[in-house]
Amino acid sequence: MKGVSLARRGGHSEWLMALVGALLAGVVWSKPPVMVKQIRLWTGSIEAQLFIDLSGAAKWKVFSLVEPHRVVIDIDQGQLESALPKPSEGGWLRGMRSGHPIPGVLRLVVDLDRKAQIEPVLLPPIGGHGYRLLIALRAKAGRESTPPIASPSDYLVVIDPGHGGDDPGAIGAKGTREKSVVLKIAKRLARMVNLEPGMRALLTRRRDHYISLRARRTLASETDAMVFVSIHADAFDRASAKGTSVYALSRRGATSALAARLAKVENAADLAGGVSLKDKSPDVAEAMLDMSLDRQIKQSRQLGAAVLGMLGRVGKRHSVRVEQAGFAVLKAPQVPSILVESGYITNIGEESKLRSVLYREQIAGAILGGIKHYCRDQPECPLPPERKIHVVQAGESLSLISARYSIGVNALKGQNNLTSDLIRVDQRLRLP
Ligand SMILES: [Zn+2]
Repeated sequence: MKGVSLARRGGHSEWLMALVGALLAGVVWSKPPVMVKQIRLWTGSIEAQLFIDLSGAAKWKVFSLVEPHRVVIDIDQGQLESALPKPSEGGWLRGMRSGHPIPGVLRLVVDLDRKAQIEPVLLPPIGGHGYRLLIALRAKAGRESTPPIASPSDYLVVIDPGHGGDDPGAIGAKGTREKSVVLKIAKRLARMVNLEPGMRALLTRRRDHYISLRARRTLASETDAMVFVSIHADAFDRASAKGTSVYALSRRGATSALAARLAKVENAADLAGGVSLKDKSPDVAEAMLDMSLDRQIKQSRQLGAAVLGMLGRVGKRHSVRVEQAGFAVLKAPQVPSILVESGYITNIGEESKLRSVLYREQIAGAILGGIKHYCRDQPECPLPPERKIHVVQAGESLSLISARYSIGVNALKGQNNLTSDLIRVDQRLRLP
């Protein structure tokens, strides 16, 4: 068995012996089949998650093989009812195939272009999902696996688009998914941050896959981020509720019933997203970390207030103070961390706004403005003084730039003596 590493056995030897016994005895195998109802693959640059939806609990085993690198998933009595997902072009996951090399066993094979660490787990039914076999894959060193390194002098902003992969977050009446709109806002914000002198952005995810809450906050603490911003657009039980809000961590209960409920919903995201085994292990350092969080919470509230102030220019705020509750994702010690609700996706008007490029630009611009205000209020802010100048980038229009700074198009035109809407790349616009 050279080159084979067994990751997990789901009672393999027992059923194999039973199978052999049944074949020897010449009896018909009568165990009910386990339907593979759907297979979903979420791929990131170094991480991927394969979810296999099953009709019931199954005996299974997952192991990896080399030459070529591949992951093998055997499901006892498995019957494939769904198409196999196709990994994206040029990624480290090459393809997926199926077969029946052993009678009564469905074998799924994922081909990889490099060695990967695998963590399989059978998730019990939860949150509308039935039994799911999750195989979390993490690529070993390879061409894409080095995270971008910021210069030590850069003001590093870790941006966290909430949810992802099997966890869609909240869903609006028109079918808009929180995980998709927050990814778009996060990417806009990252682009803006990276254009700012002395600032650098790092996204916790760039694609549609789930990352555990712990992995999100760990990215912030391990990179010594200056701030961490988790972006959401959650649901509310009253469809009339609307407006933006900002949350920080609390160690002693929530500041409102709404904050408590939201933290509960968000902290359960790991279950829907299919948290890896590693994240379920008890965190012995957790209690120690809590002690160092008081200063972080104070700074997070200041950061939150600065962002909330800027969001006030965008439109109605659901709460004019920074609310607090025990959000697991905001627990990076020493990194001021906030969760921004960019609107309620359950409000039909806000769902439409969240779908619009201009609104997403407004939200991203307000978050960036708030971060810069917060930094400049600190004694050792490394950012250069605000320039009140915008350098036009490719693809930008006057309305997009106006949205970003929450100013009127006419005010922007007046400030720059523009008589038409035409602008050119690299043009320097004065801001009011
Ligand atoms: Zn959310």
